[in-house]
Amino acid sequence: MLLMKNQKTADVVIIGAGIIGAATGYYLAKRGCKVIVMEKRFPCFGSTGRCIGGIRAQFSHDLTIRIMLKSIAMFQTLDRELREDIEWYAGGYLFLAFDEQRKKSFLQAIAIQRKYGLNVTFVSPDECCRIVPGLNPEGLIGGAWCPTDGQANPFKVTYGYLNGIKRFGGKLLVNTEAVKINTERDRVVSVVTDNGEEISTPTVLNAAGPWVKEVGALVGVEIPVYPDRHEALVTEAVERCLEPMLVDYRPDGCYFVQHYGTGHFIGCYTPVPIVPGDRVDASDEFITEMPRRMVRLLPKLGEVKVLRHWAGSYEMSPDGNPICGKTPVDGFYVAGGMSGHGFMFGPAIGELMAELIITGKSSIDISEFSLERDWTKAEAMK
Ligand SMILES: Cc1cc2nc3c(=O)[nH]c(=O)nc-3n(C[C@H](O)[C@H](O)[C@H](O)COP(=O)(O)OP(=O)(O)OC[C@H]3O[C@@H](n4cnc5c(N)ncnc54)[C@H](O)[C@@H]3O)c2cc1C
Repeated sequence: MLLMKNQKTADVVIIGAGIIGAATGYYLAKRGCKVIVMEKRFPCFGSTGRCIGGIRAQFSHDLTIRIMLKSIAMFQTLDRELREDIEWYAGGYLFLAFDEQRKKSFLQAIAIQRKYGLNVTFVSPDECCRIVPGLNPEGLIGGAWCPTDGQANPFKVTYGYLNGIKRFGGKLLVNTEAVKINTERDRVVSVVTDNGEEISTPTVLNAAGPWVKEVGALVGVEIPVYPDRHEALVTEAVERCLEPMLVDYRPDGCYFVQHYGTGHFIGCYTPVPIVPGDRVDASDEFITEMPRRMVRLLPKLGEVKVLRHWAGSYEMSPDGNPICGKTPVDGFYVAGGMSGHGFMFGPAIGELMAELIITGKSSIDISEFSLERDWTKAEAMK
């Protein structure tokens, strides 16, 4: 391929400056790769800037648990690595069970989680009320409790990684959309942007979040990721009174946490039925329902005022697990379909994808999350 004078080149072009693109770019740049991150709007424009910052290892899939144990270990020291206060705080996650079926599914997941050394137990309603003073125990039969889960600030983590990329000599292009990916003999050779620039590269990572399907289509690779709308709210700051993320999986349940530093409550729920598509309008239904659901769980929140309400996308794969790895087009990689957990996966997936891209192998084998897989092993703790 002939290069034009002044044409940009990169070892790896990353499409998307959310947590996944930023983290992968950082670990690639740290290992000496020349990285260009391309973002159609601005960093955190996609799901990352709309998420509530929860981080947990309580999953049902073996590989997800292993990835999250790695990610949590990384979050614990990320301040130093990124030279940024990322607001990591291990306040735990308490998943509430209101029926025997849910208790059974938590117990099954706990058995798998404990195999990997996670400090997680099924606790009584009294113990739930000890962990969360003021919790309404009506109908509660217990909870899955892990004190090492936590929270961090998605903006600070993502910008920390992006600033790190620049320190290692990489580039971030904002307001720059990838509109075409050129291939020669089924191998990536360049990316064309919406301002007509062509960047030569042998490697492209599709980290486009809710839009990974559209970016995959640029090279004819079908990536089964479908966004659906999730809304969230934040309240005024009040005195600290809740340590863990509280998760209520009932169809009319919700999940929320109190920011350990500021005292704001931040939370969301999964609507029934889901609202498909990448729309991010905010609904009357949510702003009426969500406070009611929060107060049902924690009546003392009755006087707390809501400050803001917004929406973003969960980027769902068919089994609720990430899609990470190579694709049928040489040099074209994907890290998407995070199914509502991409922030917490960020550090580990970023490092594992960087290893895979550079050496062809990652230190945790993530092939179970490859594009060509059996989609029947669904995540039970979505
Ligand atoms: C309300 C809500 C609450 C959530 N809570 C949590 C939580 O507590 N914990 C957790 O771990 N996760 C949570 N999530 C999920 C999490 O936000 C996502 O899984 C994660 O942010 C996905 O990151 P990403 O980098 O893959 O995608 P994104 O952050 O969406 O980044 C993709 C980027 O790609 C860019 N892009 C797309 N197409 C192109 C193109 N052609 N050219 C250039 N750029 C392009 C987009 O503009 C976007 O900025 C939540 C999500 C929502 C909506």
